[in-house]
Amino acid sequence: MKYRDLYLYGVEKLNNAGIAEAKLDARLLLEEVCHTSQSDMILYPDREVDDIQHDSYVNYIEKREQRIPLQQIIEKQEFMGLTFYVNENVLIPRQDTEILVEEAMKNLHDGMRILDVCTGSGCILISLLHYSNDCKGVGIDISKEALLVAQKNAKKLLPDGKEAVFYQGDLFEALPDTEKFDMIVSNPPYIRSDVIPTLEPEVASHEPVIALDGKEDGLFFYRRIIEQAGKYLCRDGMLFFEIGYDQAEAVSKLMTDKGFIEVNTLKDYAGLDRVVYGTYLPMDSL
Ligand code: GLN
Repeated sequence: MKYRDLYLYGVEKLNNAGIAEAKLDARLLLEEVCHTSQSDMILYPDREVDDIQHDSYVNYIEKREQRIPLQQIIEKQEFMGLTFYVNENVLIPRQDTEILVEEAMKNLHDGMRILDVCTGSGCILISLLHYSNDCKGVGIDISKEALLVAQKNAKKLLPDGKEAVFYQGDLFEALPDTEKFDMIVSNPPYIRSDVIPTLEPEVASHEPVIALDGKEDGLFFYRRIIEQAGKYLCRDGMLFFEIGYDQAEAVSKLMTDKGFIEVNTLKDYAGLDRVVYGTYLPMDSL
């Protein structure tokens, strides 16, 4: 079949399946299968696609029709200019999360120790390590399967001499008590349980629910992390959270109540509150 005809087949199938970005997804999947780029559609629309590529494309389109996220089909997602491996065991890195990484980077100095709580694909921790010097990184997650993804990404994206260590456990459970960090970063599960079924099928049915579900009021993990963060932070250490659009006030209050000062909120590209961060300076340490 010709390249353009195969693309049109994909667009029609995805349109019929109610996929909003049918044209984009059909093109990206075709480019993935044929190792081509956007210009191929204009320059070589009549080239013949071989049988193997044809069959994999049909298979990819069938998966996308079932609302499997594009990134899970092609097993990758760009984040902070790096290509992360992803699968169904981790949350797909979101562009909005780059806001957290960029703010954290402004406060990161050579040699600092960083802890990523609920690391998932490792995208936050690995980006920070990639763009800094001599920093030490630790990632924790309850999911063994997620940590396999994070380890794979660390191996792939961190040059020799930069290393991340991963521990599996419920939040800080697996961390030795003596570990201290200059910075804690976290994008914990924060969607209220009752909201999850209302999300797009790509998220609700195909992304790991344990990476999304913040229990009854969505704040479950913030409470637990803030409760324990002081034990693992150096004096003057910083805590950075990604938050849901309506959680800035509640999370900021939880932080100020537990000894954090200069607690600030940042907005995402849609103008919604997305990051809360602050500095740990409890009164009794002054
Ligand atoms: N931002 C994600 C979403 O909207 C949720 C991320 C999370 O719960 N940490 O689907």
